[in-house]
Formats: sequence, structure tokens, C-alpha cells
Amino acid sequence: AEQELIRAQRFESLALLAGGLSHDLRNLLQPLLLAGDTLEDYADDPRLARLGALVRDCGRRGLEMVSSMLSFARGARRAEQVKLGALTDALKLLLQGSVPRTVQMGIEVYDPDVAFEGNHTELQQCLLNLCLNAIQAMPEGGSLRIDTAQVTLADDFFSDDESIVPGRYLRISVIDTGAGMPPEVLQRLFEPFFTTKETGTGLGLLSCKRIVASHGGLMRVRSRVGEGTQFHLYLPLGAMDDEAGDMPVLEHHLQGE
Ligand code: ADP
Repeated sequence: AEQELIRAQRFESLALLAGGLSHDLRNLLQPLLLAGDTLEDYADDPRLARLGALVRDCGRRGLEMVSSMLSFARGARRAEQVKLGALTDALKLLLQGSVPRTVQMGIEVYDPDVAFEGNHTELQQCLLNLCLNAIQAMPEGGSLRIDTAQVTLADDFFSDDESIVPGRYLRISVIDTGAGMPPEVLQRLFEPFFTTKETGTGLGLLSCKRIVASHGGLMRVRSRVGEGTQFHLYLPLGAMDDEAGDMPVLEHHLQGE
């Protein structure tokens, strides 16, 4: 599992980079191709026309490379049945060596058999990222809690730019009692390469967000300096009228405070 996780992590960083790079490259290459094409068509000097054709062909080859890079970045993700219990078990195993004695860890699984369509490895990586961040935020110790619940999200939970459907969601929360974050940090949390750590990559949370979004879910953060941080992942379990959950909790907006 660890080996596969490392592979997934590498892939994820690569995919992020490739995704960003291909976007920029495409914007550079398109005008180049056009310029070459125009030069070939309109140049009076045949040498210039040949030069134009060369520029155009290079531009075209570049664009082809970019589009294959893009489809790699989007990736052929394996969809499978993900089981909550399997996810938290794997997480326990992976965290074993990383939780210092000063950090109390607790995992609360309301139903290990809850299953949904998704990618186990990606979600495992996402949760691991959140837990490692939490541990790093508690150099003097504290508590790391992973809570799970089934919640019902109504329309008013979502902001305008979120194209998410109301319904039943699995909420996985990673809660620490660490340093917390000031508003300036909270605001920039999901920016690529944003980090406050000396050896941070600033890609962890962005990658989490990407993974959760690709599952049709969303993330919420709540944090207070000196008190701690809560990350909540919401993963869709199905439409509202599916068999109703045991104890649906109606969720209200969470905001960084
Ligand atoms: P990295 O961990 O490499 O810095 P992330 O994208 O995972 O990259 O996190 C970005 C920043 O968000 C961190 O540098 C840190 O400042 C802040 N952060 C993330 N999680 C927590 C947390 N649980 N408590 C306090 N700050 C956090």
C-alpha cells in the first residue's frame, strides 16, 4: 500500500505540474503556429515561406505534445468501490510511525461498511496529507481526531461557484488542536506552492482539493490561531431520495474564522 501511495503522490505532483504547464504552453504555441502559417502563405520570398512552414510545424508538434500531456494530467483514474473502513484502516497503518508520542490520535468511524464510488489510493493520500499537516501544526503535542459522519447538505450550504448537488454526503473531518491559521494564511491555502514551512512544497492542500473535487465533493476549513484547525471533506454518497441515512445532520456553512 505504501509503495502504491508513493506512486500516486508522484503522479499527483506531476499531474498538477503538467496541468499548469500545458495551459501556459498552449497559450504560447497557438500564436506561434498561426504566425508560421501566415508567414508561409504570404511571404514573397520562398525562403521566408519555408521558414514559416517550419515554425508552423514545430508549433503544431508542440501543441500535440501539450494535449497528450494534458490527457495524462487528467489521468485515467480508476473508479472503484471505496469503503470507509478500509480507508481509515489504511490511514492508521500509514500514520503509525509518524504520530509523535505527544499527539493523541483518535479515529471515529460511524460505519466502516459505508461504500461509495471513488479512488481509494487518492483519498488515502489526501487524508494522509491532512493528517501530516495537522501533526506538523502540533510541535508541542495535542490531539488529532478523525471524525466521520453522514450528513445531508441542502442548497444553502453551497456557494454560487460550486456546481455540487444537494444530497447525502460522507463527511470526513481531520481536526487538530495545533497552531491554527491567521486569515492571511487561510486565504491562500489552496494556492499552488503556497507554504509557510521551510521545506514545504505548498502542493499538499491543492492536491487534496483536486482529489476531492474529482470525486464530486468539496472541502471546508475552519481554523483559529492558537486553537487548532478543522478540515472537512464532503464526498457525495448519492441522491437525497436514496435510502435515508441513520442520523442525517443538516450542515450549515463553515467558514474560516
Ligand atoms: P505544505 O504542507 O507543503 O506547506 P500544504 O498545501 O499542505 O503545503 O499546506 C499549505 C500551508 O497551509 C502550510 O504551509 C501551513 O501554513 C498551512 N496549513 C495546512 N494545514 C494546516 C494545519 N492543520 N494547521 C495549521 N496550518 C496548516
